[in-house]
Amino acid sequence: MNVLKGTKSHPTADWIYEQVRKEIPNISLGTVYRNLKLMKEEGGILNLEMGSLNRFDGNSQNHYHFMCEQCGRVFDIDEPIDAEIDERVAHKTSFLVRYHRLEFHGLCLDCQTNSVAKEV
Ligand SMILES: [Zn+2]
Ligand SMILES: [Zn+2]
Repeated sequence: MNVLKGTKSHPTADWIYEQVRKEIPNISLGTVYRNLKLMKEEGGILNLEMGSLNRFDGNSQNHYHFMCEQCGRVFDIDEPIDAEIDERVAHKTSFLVRYHRLEFHGLCLDCQTNSVAKEV
């Protein structure tokens, strides 16, 4: 949990395992997976399925993300959740909408700079 709260990189379970191992050298990957599952069920963390990767987020409040198509990094977007979408969809479908997730895709600042540098 501390590892997750201390990073903004939306790490995978493998990455978390590597970090935790620095503190607890004999911990197993299975234990890390079990704890992640538990924390997710308790609502302490978010589990983001992005493409083929299963990433974890220490910020359990619903928030939007930006995913860089080049370096694969995931950024938090400081943008208020648009509750109107939930209402619109609920109205249209009569479904019970609890929340929605939104993901932006494109190039992060670093990758924009790099691609410009390459073109020159
Ligand atoms: Zn990037
Ligand atoms: Zn996030």
